[in-house]
Amino acid sequence: MKRAVYPGSFDPITFGHLDIIERSAKMVDELVIAVLRNSAKNSLFSLEERVNMITELTKDLPNVKVESFDGLLVDYMSQIDANIIVRGLRAVTDFEYELQIAQMNHVLKDNAETIFLITNLKYSYLSSSLVKEIASYGGDISKFVPAQLMNRIYEKYNVNRENTYEQ
Ligand code: ADP
Repeated sequence: MKRAVYPGSFDPITFGHLDIIERSAKMVDELVIAVLRNSAKNSLFSLEERVNMITELTKDLPNVKVESFDGLLVDYMSQIDANIIVRGLRAVTDFEYELQIAQMNHVLKDNAETIFLITNLKYSYLSSSLVKEIASYGGDISKFVPAQLMNRIYEKYNVNRENTYEQ
């Protein structure tokens, strides 16, 4: 059984993340989206909110599970018996950091292998932080996140947009 984890904060999940999820789910038997309880970062959405949003958006993908984790990724992987880590690479700027983390994880757990999926060109500029920044100014985020999430994101910033989507 090939079980992979796709770890991240997903605060909030974007079309870029969803693209990586759909593509990597086809490569493995089971993909566990591992939502990180951010200790260092101040997250916009609580862990429970992030897990619920991702669960809702991936409900039609039968081999995708959503869980949360705390602490070292490699320890969590041993607990759930996974040895593949999926990460998305947007640009060279992601590379140096991702390379270091992948090598570190391999040292910490010698059967841990990281696979990098190159971001779809349409989403290469997209990040959760930019989505938050644009939403905080009341900008249009419809090209970045699924329609069901838009109002939830605007609400966090007390933004009332006209023509916002129905939930
Ligand atoms: P972190 O909390 O580790 O910064 P994120 O939750 O932002 O991570 O992202 C998790 C993973 O998704 C990372 O591998 C990141 O490179 C990838 N990712 C983020 N945005 C995109 C995107 N637009 N397209 C493809 N992959 C992305």
